[in-house]
Amino acid sequence: MGTLERMKRRKEYLYKKNPFCRLCKVRMFLNLTSKNINRDDLATIEHENNKYHPEERLKLTTKEESIRAQKFREGRTELLCKKCNSSIADEETKQRPIKDLWDRSGAYPRGHPRHKPRK
Ligand SMILES: [Zn+2]
Repeated sequence: MGTLERMKRRKEYLYKKNPFCRLCKVRMFLNLTSKNINRDDLATIEHENNKYHPEERLKLTTKEESIRAQKFREGRTELLCKKCNSSIADEETKQRPIKDLWDRSGAYPRGHPRHKPRK
């Protein structure tokens, strides 16, 4: 069984347990088709869409490590509506240390030793 299938089952299981968004308490819509449905109340797994999730940075070199990461991931997943989930991702982007963003983009502010003026 692939990861996507696992996530789908996980989502279905969580939805049966509690079909309401943890944050805004809206009754969510569960998409069991393979089609992409874009609606605010779509049930999504927390962190599913979060590009900054720390696990992304875990180096999974051994099989044990990847199994551990998988268990960790499944243990802490919760359902959120699409709207709340994406606003969390936005918040995390904002809270990310500025220095980190500089390092990523290679753009440093004026006065910083690595600042390169735009030509
Ligand atoms: Zn919500």
